[in-house]
Amino acid sequence: MKRLTIKMRVTILCTLLAAAAAAVALIVILTTEQRMLTNYYRDSLVSTAQLAMDDIRYEDGDLDIDRNLDDLPNVRIALFTQDGDLIYGRRPFEKTFTHSKISGMHGSSGATKWMVYDTLLAFEEGESVWLRCYMSTDATESIHGTRTPLILIFFPILVLLAALGGFGIARRAFRPVLQIVSTAEGIADGADLKKRIALSGAQDEIYQIARVFDDMLDRLDHAFERECRFTSDASHELRTPVAAILAQSEFALSEAANAQDREEALAEIRDRAQYMADLTQRLMALARMDANPMPLIPESVDLAMMAEMAAQSLEESAAEKGIHLSVDAKEPVIISGDQTMLLQAVLNLTENAIRYGREGGHVSLCAKQSAHEAMLSVEDDGIGISEVDLAHIFDRFYQADTSRHGAGAGLGLSLVERIVHLHGGHIEIQSQHHVGSRFIITLPKGEHHL
Ligand code: ADP
Repeated sequence: MKRLTIKMRVTILCTLLAAAAAAVALIVILTTEQRMLTNYYRDSLVSTAQLAMDDIRYEDGDLDIDRNLDDLPNVRIALFTQDGDLIYGRRPFEKTFTHSKISGMHGSSGATKWMVYDTLLAFEEGESVWLRCYMSTDATESIHGTRTPLILIFFPILVLLAALGGFGIARRAFRPVLQIVSTAEGIADGADLKKRIALSGAQDEIYQIARVFDDMLDRLDHAFERECRFTSDASHELRTPVAAILAQSEFALSEAANAQDREEALAEIRDRAQYMADLTQRLMALARMDANPMPLIPESVDLAMMAEMAAQSLEESAAEKGIHLSVDAKEPVIISGDQTMLLQAVLNLTENAIRYGREGGHVSLCAKQSAHEAMLSVEDDGIGISEVDLAHIFDRFYQADTSRHGAGAGLGLSLVERIVHLHGGHIEIQSQHHVGSRFIITLPKGEHHL
């Protein structure tokens, strides 16, 4: 049974159930019918015997019979002496007498079957005779005779119909499952994550499975696309500096280059290598977080202090652009989290605010809290982000067109988002193109187990 398909198992179960139900029904019908027939024979014979008894008397040494006992319906009557000699009626079969007991009997020819009821009639005069009431069961026997072949024909037909019905129902019920299987196989064969089951019809359990499967495929497809884009973007980002390093090295080694050219080439090579080192470090941080959401040992982190630290370490680069960097954090904002990661996130946001901020503008960091949440925001009055770019800003390697010439590679915000999510928080952007942006990180204040 284990190797059979569910469809076959349902069919077999349906067939067995139908056969068992038909067999039980047959047994019940046959036994009830037999009991009813036996009761009918008994009632007919006993009541006829009662009637006959009233009409038989023994007077003056003679048996006096009031009316013609053969007139009684269905049942025949015979009278015998105690020794078994026939006094009245006929003797269609030989049988010893038993008082008040119904028994079946084959006639002497063997063809007819009789139900027999004997009663010993004892008269006051001391005489006694046997009253025999008997009736033929041939009519009912012939009904039985035709019924048995009918049962033998119809029973297998019934079972066959049940098997066909079961198979039909199972096939119909499992059609959507087969659709799911063939879609899954199609995906496995061709690695085509665009395929969907898209089951229509009744919104039953199988429909729900198909919908969950489709949702899962959507997510897989997106993840797969992101992965592909990520790989191609990563190789692209690395190819450009590598090409520049190779070109600068070739030039520096050529005879055409003088000492100053070589110095400039080396500086260019160092900058490009530094960019690659930063990029690799960010890629590794992201890959680490993706592969294993690091079992952090949560420690108490003060977001207010973190904002101060970020501002201090970026003071110089802000000053280079004439940007006024301020921190609004009146009281400690304590949360439970990973200090290094959170500082990295605040630094990334502040670096961006300075990088994409307006020369001579403002960048402000703010840390505050409510009963259950802590909030840290970084605001600038720089180039802002268009609505189109906002939708992709957290995608890896995404850089808004207007800022393509920035020093980053489009990984900073992905890292920030990942860090915030790892801490059970969320990040929101309020931005207006050419007006400025505000990045708001909200984190739960309770201990967050990663
Ligand atoms: P990048 O290393 O390019 O800065 P990020 O992931 O940090 O990468 O940012 C992605 C893109 O989002 C940036 O290229 C820039 O276009 C945009 N962006 C990020 N921060 C700001 C900001 N404060 N103002 C305007 N645009 C921003």
